Amino acid sequence: ARIKQAEFVKSSSRAKDCPKDGKPEFAIIGRSNIGKSSLINTLVRQKDIALTSKKPGILICCDFVCSWTAGKTQLINHFLINRSWYIVDLPGYGFAHASESARMDWSSFTKGYFQNREMLVAVLLLVDASVPPQKIDLDCANWLGRNNIGMTFVFTKCDKAKGGKGSRPSDNIQQFHELIRTCYREPPPWITTSSVTGMGRDELLMHMSQLRNY
Ligand code: GDP
Repeated sequence: ARIKQAEFVKSSSRAKDCPKDGKPEFAIIGRSNIGKSSLINTLVRQKDIALTSKKPGILICCDFVCSWTAGKTQLINHFLINRSWYIVDLPGYGFAHASESARMDWSSFTKGYFQNREMLVAVLLLVDASVPPQKIDLDCANWLGRNNIGMTFVFTKCDKAKGGKGSRPSDNIQQFHELIRTCYREPPPWITTSSVTGMGRDELLMHMSQLRNY
């Protein structure tokens, strides 16, 4: 399950421009600030990793996802892992102050991706474990479920302790499951992670490896 090599391949503004080489892919989605860039960096960051780009002269450093996706929120970014499968970074959703039309843009754009990617193994839906369940995340999970798109819930920020304004991650996760369970006969798999402690990293990589080999 180890990631030995990660390479930025391309940013696409339309689903039909995405790579068409038949390699399996995992799409990562979640609200903005959910910890998506941190998670992708945690997944690929290894001492001996070779982060390269097809564009000559561009070597992508550890924070490559952040630098590549800065200001590219409406692009689909493909990262080729170990030359054999893709991690796909999709635009974040649920900007707190986004207008209704901006939200619709997200949905038609991203739905276009989901409905056109035959090699999509699963969607990793990122959910912030440090806050109670958010309607937009539940809506997104329900939409994916209704459209028979396989998904795994990846709870982020599980290191955040209770106290202050936050509620306990374990309680938030349980509530999320209670709300989602009504929509599925079989609840999707889920993994708890933290980009701060590295919790869940190996489990997630193993999970993706198992799904690829089905
Ligand atoms: P993105 O917008 O979804 O790509 O989110 P980022 O990865 O940029 O993270 C947003 C903020 O959440 C940053 O301030 C991160 O430091 C913080 N963050 C991300 N992951 C974690 C985590 O696992 N634990 C904690 N405590 N903070 C995190």
